[in-house]
Amino acid sequence: MIPFNKPFLTGNETKYITEAVLSGKISGNGMYTKKCHEFFSAKYGFHKCLLTTSCTDALEMAAILADIKQGDEVIIPSYTFVSTAIAFIRQGATIIFADSHSDQPNIDEDLIEGLITERTKAIVPVHYAGVACDMDKIMGLAQKYNLLVIEDAAQAIDSYYKGKPLGSIGHLGCFSFHETKNVIAGEGGLLAINDPSLAKRSEILWEKGTNRAEFFRGEINKYGWVDIGSSFLPSEIIAAFLYAQLENIEAIQQKRKSIWDRYYGNLSSLREKGVQLPTIPDYATNNAHMFYLICQSLDQRNALISYLKEKEILPVFHYQSLHASDYYKDKHDGRVLTNSDNFSDTLVRLPFYFELTLEEVDRISQHILEFIS
Ligand SMILES: *Cc1c(COP(=O)(O)O)cnc(C)c1O
Repeated sequence: MIPFNKPFLTGNETKYITEAVLSGKISGNGMYTKKCHEFFSAKYGFHKCLLTTSCTDALEMAAILADIKQGDEVIIPSYTFVSTAIAFIRQGATIIFADSHSDQPNIDEDLIEGLITERTKAIVPVHYAGVACDMDKIMGLAQKYNLLVIEDAAQAIDSYYKGKPLGSIGHLGCFSFHETKNVIAGEGGLLAINDPSLAKRSEILWEKGTNRAEFFRGEINKYGWVDIGSSFLPSEIIAAFLYAQLENIEAIQQKRKSIWDRYYGNLSSLREKGVQLPTIPDYATNNAHMFYLICQSLDQRNALISYLKEKEILPVFHYQSLHASDYYKDKHDGRVLTNSDNFSDTLVRLPFYFELTLEEVDRISQHILEFIS
């Protein structure tokens, strides 16, 4: 059986975890957390970094930092993971769902301005499959209407927009190290704070509403409770695992790109049969987070998945439009989001993980070509 995902171990994870455990400091914000923060700041130029226990947590921190309150509106794509929405819902926001482009799942930037009202506080673009949204358009709107931009860069580590790292362009950027992402820690995340005016408060929220970080830097002589917050920081055990991955990010990315290119080459002829391949705009890079196909119909997609399962291959479909979810359908304003619904019905993700061999990619591709013809 070829699974959909298989977490990749670089080799040093357990070694670093053992070191962390034996060091006598296994709670958060120790040596490995600092090494991870330094790595991200140096490689991607984030103003400030804070590891979190998930991308969901990073989004929740972002929602608090953005000062989202009851009645505020936040614009997000409907075709995304639940976390993009729930972080803001928890703060009392009304979510205004936007449709995707017709040829790729990212938010259609040209629809955003029409959704902005006096209550709009933030835009949350999701870089689907690690492919950048058009950030110049989004940042332009943010400036014009005085909004915050929080990038859901959960899938977008090591990907770029016009040469700028994703997660470094909005006021805040959120990453995931869930075991299905390119770089993993089991569960884990990162909040990148790019707007310096949010940096001080971010550290306080991260440390359960206390100014402990300032205290440990010797900037104040006692610490106490100064704000809301939570225990957003992961233990050193998680950070040690993550650091082993980060040391190998180049190799991970190179291997994933070779898998992606092989799929793309093998499957290009599907276009003539009406099945679409991923679209990558000129301004975006490909970080090889996933490989997907867009089938012609729900029936074709489901039949393809069944066919591949018979051949011991496990593809998956995923996001179902959030505006049509059980939780939100009665709260949604009724706009029809055709493209989002279309991706819900027709997008299929193929097996994608570091240890997938090119021979396996060929085998999977062969079966898909057989099925579609
Ligand atoms: C994976 C993912 C998340 C959630 O990440 P966790 O680390 O599992 O909380 C959020 N948004 C998107 C787009 C994702 O792909």
